[in-house]
Amino acid sequence: MFKLFIAALFIFNFSTSFAKASEDPDLYWMKVKAKDKFARSLIANTGIAIEHVNDNYVMGMGTKSELDAVKKTGRLETSFKLSEQMLDFPAKDEKFHNYTELLAELNSLAANNPDIVALNSIGQSHENRQILHLTISTDLAQSDLKPGIVFMGGHHAREHVSIEMPLMLAQYLVREYRNQNAEVVNLLESRQIHLIPMVNPDGAEHDISSGRYKTWRKNRRLNADGNYGVDLNRNYGFMWGTGGSSKSTRSDVYMGKAPFSEPETMAIKNFVEAQTNISILLSFHTFSELILYPWGHKYDSISDSRALSVHTTMANRMAQWNGYKPQQSSDLYVASGDTTDWSFGSQGIISFTFELDPKSMWSGGFYPGQNTIDIAFNKNIKPALYLMSYADNPYRVLESTHQAYGLNSPLVK
Ligand SMILES: [Zn+2]
Repeated sequence: MFKLFIAALFIFNFSTSFAKASEDPDLYWMKVKAKDKFARSLIANTGIAIEHVNDNYVMGMGTKSELDAVKKTGRLETSFKLSEQMLDFPAKDEKFHNYTELLAELNSLAANNPDIVALNSIGQSHENRQILHLTISTDLAQSDLKPGIVFMGGHHAREHVSIEMPLMLAQYLVREYRNQNAEVVNLLESRQIHLIPMVNPDGAEHDISSGRYKTWRKNRRLNADGNYGVDLNRNYGFMWGTGGSSKSTRSDVYMGKAPFSEPETMAIKNFVEAQTNISILLSFHTFSELILYPWGHKYDSISDSRALSVHTTMANRMAQWNGYKPQQSSDLYVASGDTTDWSFGSQGIISFTFELDPKSMWSGGFYPGQNTIDIAFNKNIKPALYLMSYADNPYRVLESTHQAYGLNSPLVK
């Protein structure tokens, strides 16, 4: 009797997990010929998510109908269906933090350092997880009066390295402040530092929910037609839906039914708009090792020449430290509705997207293994401190005699 029950339970579990797996559309990996940004934008408009750009081709992922659309362009070189087994990453990745572990880390950081760290939620996801937010500064209660900067990660579910960056940055700042590192003490005394490590907690959890990676990108909105997910980095409300995003709910770059239709992007909007001291924003993504700045929705450069110079000067400087390639976002391909077009275009905030390590699909893509966490962090700590140092006035970087804020340390020079 007992055995029968176990067997029945097993069959039940098996059938439900099978049903669950099949609700996600099959994904195809594609290599597509494209020699310039115009050709790449043409490919982006089919609705596939471009994940790698080369001089001669792009690689990306999409559904069957997007694969058909790419075929129609006559540019498809190779494609294959991503099977469950191929998505199963063999390396031990226990260093990565899921939602519960991240919450525990942030909680303990705040609880052990109440003088300089506050943990809040800026809103809730579709599945009612908190969108966690740390504020780090001395004199916390008054720190809104200081210049502010915000770091974000985890817009895209499968980009787990991007979640580790803001977490490690927070831990670094606290540790070095306690060690009386003069530079970090200066920064915490004079800046208000915001970190939102996991903008898309539902997606991140979904990606790992079966014990094997699902290569999930979007959030977990249940769309009216039964398909899941909106691409949060196509849902921001500045020049939304003007290229490089899709109206198909099956697409990995589905823009949503309206700008800021998603609770996750709306939470960021409300937070940034209310936090009027923020002058610089950095959104971490993976992968490709790039430093990107607006615009993404069009090929034109930022028309305000000073704002453009701030972005290019900073991007070039940071590239010397992390070895990434600095470029305007649309030099890759046009994509509208992303975080940084909105934060710069509508809020005037100096804005960057980093596509973190690794460099390519061949070095691990979205799932490079846990050793990549430290590698990416060590490359990017100097750029992060550098941006913090200019939060009082990023335009200072244009002055010939400028110097980064109060910096005696060799970290930033
Ligand atoms: Zn991303």
